[in-house]
Amino acid sequence: MKLRTQLTLTMLLVGLIASALVGGVAYWLLMRDFRQSVQDQAFDNFQTDVQAYLSRYGSWSRGESVEPFPLFVQRSRPMLSPGFGSGPQPPFPPADRRMPLPDHTGIDANRAPSGMGAQRRTAPFLFMLTDPAGRVVKPGQDYRRGEQVSGRLLASARPIEVDGKVALLAVPLGDPNLSPQDLSYLAAMERALSYGLAGAALMALLLGVLFSRRLCRRIDELTSAVHAMRADGELEQAVAVHSRDEIGELAGAFNRMSRELAKAHAEMREAAIRDPLTQLHNRRYFNEQAALAFDQAVRYDQPLTVMIADLDHFKQINDNFSHAVGDEVLKGVARILRSNIRKSDVLARHGGEEFVILFPQTSLQQAYERCELLRTQIENSDWSGVHPQLNVTLSIGLNDALTLGSIEKMLSAADEALYIAKRSGRNRIEPVAA
Ligand code: GH3
Ligand code: MG
Ligand code: MG
Repeated sequence: MKLRTQLTLTMLLVGLIASALVGGVAYWLLMRDFRQSVQDQAFDNFQTDVQAYLSRYGSWSRGESVEPFPLFVQRSRPMLSPGFGSGPQPPFPPADRRMPLPDHTGIDANRAPSGMGAQRRTAPFLFMLTDPAGRVVKPGQDYRRGEQVSGRLLASARPIEVDGKVALLAVPLGDPNLSPQDLSYLAAMERALSYGLAGAALMALLLGVLFSRRLCRRIDELTSAVHAMRADGELEQAVAVHSRDEIGELAGAFNRMSRELAKAHAEMREAAIRDPLTQLHNRRYFNEQAALAFDQAVRYDQPLTVMIADLDHFKQINDNFSHAVGDEVLKGVARILRSNIRKSDVLARHGGEEFVILFPQTSLQQAYERCELLRTQIENSDWSGVHPQLNVTLSIGLNDALTLGSIEKMLSAADEALYIAKRSGRNRIEPVAA
């Protein structure tokens, strides 16, 4: 999978997980606080009713013997105005609210939790009542009157005070019954959260695409440069360093390495085609160039002359004056040859004390004249700087016979001519005409 796709998918995944996490936590907190708020409101109403009941009858048991609590609640506050509370009009007629409520409901069916806009048809919460010691006074669920409530359940109880003293404990039972308004409010919140989640995912996707495109463009530059190095053999590549981050650092390092590699490669290539003593090209380079020049000469029907030269009695120079003097002579001859030919001519040390020159677009006669100049230059050079008694001469063989069919054959023919020159007394040129 491409890096760009991987990055985009990772961003999308991270975005989705993060928004799902935030959405989940937000939903959980919302539900918790919402239920708490419903319970708080229900308790406030219940507490008010219980306090009124106790004030009216002195104690719960006395009150129950005279008037059941639900009837008391019904009677004492039946006439609430229809617009009571902050919510909408109740969806049911007032008669509904006047119906007797079951004995175990400790609720105010007519009051809505503030801010939630809810009117309730059923009890939002059931409360059981115990005395301060935890014995059931007003039963609920499976608990019977007089039963001792467990400490764990009492921990959730809320005290109802009368005249500054805890008269009873209200124990909430079960989950709140949410009204249609509450439910539609929660559904709206859920919708809002899902829209938020979808928005966050879309944002993560967009950012992922943008970010990965930007990042990958820079990485693409690097990989293209690497491909160009491999495919085109162009070792020296330069990519733009856009930033100071890791990719910028990578680009800088790549540029440096590419430069050094190209330089090292050029040096190696140069070393492979150069003779270290004379700094002339070597036989390998000469053969490559000579083959090309031969093909070109044949194709365009142009003259081409090849020369091979050999120093005369060079062994004696070594023997008489030392090997080091011999080396200096080789270097000096190379210098003279190099500085007396054209740039388009190809000069090389063929090995030992032999030199070769390729004269492209040059007739035998023109090459002969040039070689005569070279021969006299070497003969007449002042070699006393190398050694006072030193005389240096060379013999030359020439050939321009393209009809021989290959540069190797022309070179052999030139070598034969050189042999003749040697035999004819040395320090001279022997041309072999085509
Ligand atoms: P001729 O005139 O027939 O060519 O005689 P020559 O002595 O030049 O030929 P020969 O082939 O007998 O000797 C060539 C000598 O060149 C032998 C070898 O030691 C010497 N030689 C070859 N390469 C080098 C080199 O790099 N440095 C030095 N100093 N001598 C070299
Ligand atoms: Mg020789
Ligand atoms: Mg020789």
